[in-house]
Amino acid sequence: MSEKPCNCPDLLSNISDYLDGTLPADLCAELEAHMRGCENCRVVVDTTSKTIYLYHTAGREVDVPQDARERLFSALKLDDLIPPKK
Ligand SMILES: [Zn+2]
Repeated sequence: MSEKPCNCPDLLSNISDYLDGTLPADLCAELEAHMRGCENCRVVVDTTSKTIYLYHTAGREVDVPQDARERLFSALKLDDLIPPKK
């Protein structure tokens, strides 16, 4: 009956750094290790990386919606992970 503890929110908040390649190696390893056992996080990272890849592939001449990441997180019920706007 007990749900296994999950530190997904902590890890998922590192996704953008992870995908940018700016996340420290130890945190990368932690995230990757967690993803092996957590389908939820795998899906989020996979989806996010594909989205970012598409952005890069599309090129700068395409008008990319600024709120795409927020919509992605929102669609995945991860609204809490949306960084506050400055
Ligand atoms: Zn997870």
